Amino acid sequence: MVLHDYLRRQYLAAMGIRAWERRTRHAAHPGPGALENCGFPPGGTVRAEDQRPSIQPAAGCGQPAVSGMDWGALEQAVSSCTKCRLHLERTRTVFGTGNRHARWVFIGEAPGSEEDRQGEPFVGRAGQLLNAMLFATGLAREEVYIANVLKCRPPNNRDPQPDEVQQCEPYLVRQIELVQPRMIVALGRHAAHSLLRTELALGKLRGQQLNYHDIPLVVTYHPAYLLRNPADKRKAWEDLRLARRLVEAAP
Ligand code: SF4
Repeated sequence: MVLHDYLRRQYLAAMGIRAWERRTRHAAHPGPGALENCGFPPGGTVRAEDQRPSIQPAAGCGQPAVSGMDWGALEQAVSSCTKCRLHLERTRTVFGTGNRHARWVFIGEAPGSEEDRQGEPFVGRAGQLLNAMLFATGLAREEVYIANVLKCRPPNNRDPQPDEVQQCEPYLVRQIELVQPRMIVALGRHAAHSLLRTELALGKLRGQQLNYHDIPLVVTYHPAYLLRNPADKRKAWEDLRLARRLVEAAP
């Protein structure tokens, strides 16, 4: 078995996907079509335009000083930020990582302990699962952009507070403006609620195309949640397949 096949099996196993192997050669990189025979039923259907919820992002996003920043100024502003109480206990700010010209942006909630220590989002077990989700979707971590709503770790990994999100959000808004992605994947309810300005349950948001400004957005589960609830990996896989189809169908 070649190394790639072995890695692919490991990634799919991490996603909770049982790979039914045929005695055929695999493509060099598993696109969505390469995973059709993995024991999954057909994925969800993209809902029609007129069925989309009319959810709009926050008005007034981006403070003037932040909205005009380039990458360097933005990163510097975050690293020295003291706008909310979270700066008091952070080890490092966690700005974001990946391709700054990416077609895909993945948005999580906030740094955890390992992210706080390393200064990079989605490291540790949740990061490994996110890497698996990306790989299964036909993406490499290096080709997407990954960031969190909050750039500093909430103590004891508690939920982000509304005032913290409000203070930190302009940084994320500017990151998305600079990347100009073709798809945003909101990982978990906090990211979805922040980006979409809604309190709807995650179950009512996933499985369909939403929009952040004019950028298609798909909501799915946070990898940390999936580690605790592996039965929902199947739904996350369906969400990512939907996102993939939307990107491929875009003009
Ligand atoms: S969480 Fe955001 S707003 Fe709060 S101190 Fe950190 S960078 Fe600043």
